[in-house]
Amino acid sequence: MKNRQYVLGVDIGTSSTKTLLVAADGRIVAETTAAYPLYSPKPGWNEQDPAHWWQATIKTVRAALKQSGIEPARIAGLGLSGQMHGSVFLDARGRVLRNALLWNDQRTARQCADITAAAGGTKGLIALVNNVALTGFTAPKILWLRDNEPKLFKQLRQLLLPKDYIRYLLTGDYASDVSDAAGTLLLDVQNRRWSTALLRKLDLAPELFPKLYESPDVTGTLHAAAARALGLVAGLPVVGGAGDQPAGAVGMGVVAEGIVSATLGTSGVVFAHAEKMAPNPAGVLQSFCHAVPDKWCVFGCMLSAGGSLEWAKEALYADTQPKSGSVFDRMDADIAGVPAGCEGLFFLPYLDGERCPHADPLARACWIGLNRRHGRAAMARAVMEGITFGMADQIVLMRQLGVKVAEVRCGGGGARSRFWRQLQADIYGATTVTVDSPNASAYGAALLGGVGGGVWGSVPAACRMTLTVQNRLKPSAPSARFYGARHTLYRTLYPALKPTFTKL
Ligand code: ADP
Repeated sequence: MKNRQYVLGVDIGTSSTKTLLVAADGRIVAETTAAYPLYSPKPGWNEQDPAHWWQATIKTVRAALKQSGIEPARIAGLGLSGQMHGSVFLDARGRVLRNALLWNDQRTARQCADITAAAGGTKGLIALVNNVALTGFTAPKILWLRDNEPKLFKQLRQLLLPKDYIRYLLTGDYASDVSDAAGTLLLDVQNRRWSTALLRKLDLAPELFPKLYESPDVTGTLHAAAARALGLVAGLPVVGGAGDQPAGAVGMGVVAEGIVSATLGTSGVVFAHAEKMAPNPAGVLQSFCHAVPDKWCVFGCMLSAGGSLEWAKEALYADTQPKSGSVFDRMDADIAGVPAGCEGLFFLPYLDGERCPHADPLARACWIGLNRRHGRAAMARAVMEGITFGMADQIVLMRQLGVKVAEVRCGGGGARSRFWRQLQADIYGATTVTVDSPNASAYGAALLGGVGGGVWGSVPAACRMTLTVQNRLKPSAPSARFYGARHTLYRTLYPALKPTFTKL
């Protein structure tokens, strides 16, 4: 075992597959990616061909071996992560029946209503699976197949999530992990097993679903044909892995109570580790099993976080071409020159409607409180503050559910701005830090693979031995008080405007 000091993490993303080869000390020795198409045969439909994921897996693993020059025999384990909620439909011989429906596919509103009704309403559904029905989840996709393509449904013998289809091709096993399985809407999240009660109510056979494991557990070993295809050694342990959100949390070290990540990409995701299953009475957050054995997680997603700042850049700074640095750097400097609170100006970041904490596709963005003194710098600062209040809304919800939030690990493009990280600390009322892990989902998958492969003793130990936490910023007490009052005011705006948004 001693000389097996490398692990592979393969993340089956929506635009591409990313593969990392990671050394026991956490160094990334190879990083490769291969893209594939997404098909939208009708508006709101989003599909992919699972064969493309497999080709991309072969290509990226082979390229990673070549890039690093590492001897395949020195690899101790392989972990998978992937886009959550996708549906791979297989027949009795393990053949793919049709293209997979993805997490961002919107065709299943009717089936979501049917599931909720079958469970006895929203409360009944939450009691069974701790979450509400969203069109992106897997269960409504299965019912959609039954309702709309009954011939294919008749041939359906196995339902797999995207990364689990790749596992099947690697090891021949039908298996999944509890974190990804939670995103099907068919998992008894408290007891970490399929909800036979809901399956019965939906008239779905339990045999359709794979065997469940904890994320770092070995689900099988690489068989000879797959080993040849990938250039690896047969017998390599493959672990459960995780959905891309929990895998990304492992990649950022969100594996202990009090640690939360705030990722400001186009969307804004707040993800918290939970020691116990967080109850989810309103269903606006996702409350799933974590990739850490016997732990849970809670996360929420606002639709336009960094996306709002990006929009403000186009709308307010289109004519700006700084001699050095980026337009974002210039905006940062402008924003820092405006007083906190922007002299009474607010921005609501609902450019694309909102998902969390207000599940409302009709919500719209607006500036409120403009006066004659406000210029583009103040408007830009209001956007940054408004996005951060929206992220803080999720943190407030989590705290209400009993989840501790002490340290926030900032990720995504927004974490590049030191100013924004301090603003986040002040508005969240928690210390912010950064963790140096781009491609956090693939990195998390590699760490899980290494735990199963015997490189590290546990998931928290793997994080401790590989991740570097830096740029610690504490909230300033007067700023936190000031923004606390502003956030209270911010929270009155959406309810006041909701009736108007509906009419717009
Ligand atoms: P994606 O979700 O598209 O992968 P990224 O994680 O790359 O997004 O983040 C992009 C976002 O990061 C931009 O929309 C912008 O809001 C933010 N961003 C990028 N650079 C900076 C910066 N220097 N200062 C502030 N925000 C930034």
